[in-house]
Amino acid sequence: MNASSPPARAPLMALDAALDQLLARVEPLTAAESVATFEADGRVLAEDLVSVLHVPPQDNSSMDGYAVRLADVPEKGVVLPVSQRIAAGHAAEALRPGTCARIFTGAPMPAGADAVVMQEDTREVGGNLHAVHIDAVPAPGQWVRRAGEDVTRGAVVLPRGHRLTPAALGLAASLGRAQLPVLRRPRVALFSTGDELVMPGEIAPQDMQPGAIYNSNRFFLRVLLQRLGCEVSDLGIVPDRRDLTLAALKTAADHHDLILTSGGVSVGEEDHIKPAVQQLGSLDLWQIAMKPGKPFACGTVRRDAGAGADAAQPCHFIGLPGNPVSSFVTFLLLVRPFLLRLQGAPVPVLQPVLLPAHFDLPRADKRREFLRVRRNTAGGLDLFPNQSSGVLTSVVWGDGLVDNPAGGTIAHGDAVAYLSFADLLA
Ligand code: AMP
Ligand code: MG
Repeated sequence: MNASSPPARAPLMALDAALDQLLARVEPLTAAESVATFEADGRVLAEDLVSVLHVPPQDNSSMDGYAVRLADVPEKGVVLPVSQRIAAGHAAEALRPGTCARIFTGAPMPAGADAVVMQEDTREVGGNLHAVHIDAVPAPGQWVRRAGEDVTRGAVVLPRGHRLTPAALGLAASLGRAQLPVLRRPRVALFSTGDELVMPGEIAPQDMQPGAIYNSNRFFLRVLLQRLGCEVSDLGIVPDRRDLTLAALKTAADHHDLILTSGGVSVGEEDHIKPAVQQLGSLDLWQIAMKPGKPFACGTVRRDAGAGADAAQPCHFIGLPGNPVSSFVTFLLLVRPFLLRLQGAPVPVLQPVLLPAHFDLPRADKRREFLRVRRNTAGGLDLFPNQSSGVLTSVVWGDGLVDNPAGGTIAHGDAVAYLSFADLLA
């Protein structure tokens, strides 16, 4: 190679290696706060959640029927007087031997009773409730929910780092928790770069200048961040100018954990992200062997001394490619794990399901490809016809991605690795 030949292209980096390197940079947040259980959906537990009680707190009936002592029902057809009536939420007395107790679902079992006979297996004697025929011999413990069968006292019900879901909030409430200790939300500054970008609502379609396009990335990136529990400062559109890019980065670094941008990470002279981040901190520009989503930047931006306690640590920087599908897919595969790790939550391992391709992909790509597909009613996958990284329709039409290895062709009927958006967005 002589001195005048263009610089060699950076070798492509494997996606897994990029993810490992990205995650290795993360120091999880430690600051915690207490939030109402009602408000804790999607937040990450800052402490183990330990139960101070049994759930359910006592043995109770899972049926409407009659609580009995097994010794009193040696065979079917016995008649037992009804000695008490126990409704849910009311206390029971010990069951007198030789009698049964009318009992309702959720009502506490009377002491001495071993089982519940469901009311369908009983008949009232003479049309009143003073005595019943027991028409089935119950098994020990039948229709009884045992104290502590869901949660035992002292158990770690949910570990620190657990990302709370609606069901987990219910479980926490069943332990009596009205407040939960959670990690503080990551603070993320978001901005889009590109002189071509205009905002819906600000410029009407008929007034758009030649070359203008609407900023679509801003809309999905902001909500993807919010769904991951982040506090988002949306800095809007930053024009393709070095001074304005520098100013936006500087302002954002002080009060955020991460600056996330889209666009401007290619190496054209209108791509100002790289030199600006380099000037204010450090930047790695990766060419990831994935399609869509090759250019990806990550690094740090120094904070001002005025940033208080945070000043010692630089702010993270991640620059996503501008093409909407590239931005979307790299967010799911790289930024999402980064933000989960930042919150101290486990990073989910991709768990593809093997499904038959109901399409052909005769031409292999050199890069690992994430194809937008949709499950069909025949149990296979259909491919969106236009896989271009600018075609956002493919992501909305699709319900997931096929993770197709580099160099892989696909023939109709082949089993392929399907990743659902439901999982990738969970
Ligand atoms: P860039 O990464 O800046 O070179 O942009 C790559 C392509 O993505 C260009 O066609 C841009 O117009 C487009 N693009 C960049 N940012 C956005 C955005 N926020 N919304 C929609 N398209 C974008
Ligand atoms: Mg651009």
